[in-house]
Amino acid sequence: MTIQWFPGHMTRARRQIQEQLKLIDAVIELVDARLPLSSRNPMIDEILGGKPRLIILNKADLADAEVTREWLAYFKREGHIALPVDASTGTGMKEIPTQLKMLMKAKIDKQVSKGMNPRAIRALIVGIPNVGKSTLINKLAGRAVALTGDRPGVTKGQQWIKVSKEMELLDTPGILWPKFEDMNVGYRLAVTGAIKAETLNAEDVAFFGIKYLAKYYWAPFKERFDLQCEQPTDFENPDEIVAIMEEVGRRRGCIISGGRVDLEKACGTLLRELRAGKLGRFSMEAPY
Ligand code: GDP
Repeated sequence: MTIQWFPGHMTRARRQIQEQLKLIDAVIELVDARLPLSSRNPMIDEILGGKPRLIILNKADLADAEVTREWLAYFKREGHIALPVDASTGTGMKEIPTQLKMLMKAKIDKQVSKGMNPRAIRALIVGIPNVGKSTLINKLAGRAVALTGDRPGVTKGQQWIKVSKEMELLDTPGILWPKFEDMNVGYRLAVTGAIKAETLNAEDVAFFGIKYLAKYYWAPFKERFDLQCEQPTDFENPDEIVAIMEEVGRRRGCIISGGRVDLEKACGTLLRELRAGKLGRFSMEAPY
């Protein structure tokens, strides 16, 4: 295992979220729709305690729509409300305030029955780095919000971003860290760019990506790189995967002296195209 997690940093992050939790009514938890479990912190339930929570499957525009439907059913079975969203365009976001209100219904009804005017629901957005927290906050706010954490050296109290008269957001998202004992979780995160591929070995990451694409998304993969080879018959045979990697390299002109394929360059190219959505929509894990 090459990754080191820093217990000091994690303790600080956790303490910060727990402070933020005291200020809010509900949590909006962002996960990556392409890998909803691998992109979430495994201790999330414990960290959030019993706070009402809405799960957002963000970057749904990049994920396989059929697999996303299965994930929605999965989260429902787990007793959660989950929504597919593309925060970069705002698709699916209309539902967020509606669902938050549903989550808070019992509390709101109680306030109303006491003759109180229910105040705006206060929410905190949490998720691992790069999952789209800032993008979602800006889209909900309808403007580019200078997040507190973006201004180093400026210490000020947290502020509320008014989304509507029914909803306010804490202006600093809660940053969770991904954690994996299982290397496959790390590879999935690296293939999608959630963590830098260099954190792991870039060739291993590309190898993992090719294996997965060849198994589940062979047709678009073959078409994108104009592959002449057949779909591997044995995905556990590294020779078959390396052969594909070499063909990708040849198609993209990644050749070194002697006509050999520059595998490192080929891997980099493949991962870049994959992350940019050039191979079409794909999911890296399914709930079964
Ligand atoms: P944060 O670290 O969680 O705040 O993540 P950011 O909001 O900075 O987003 C990380 C990257 O993902 C940026 O390049 C965003 O443009 C991109 N991004 C965020 N949400 C989406 C989405 O729903 N779809 C797509 N395709 N890209 C997104």
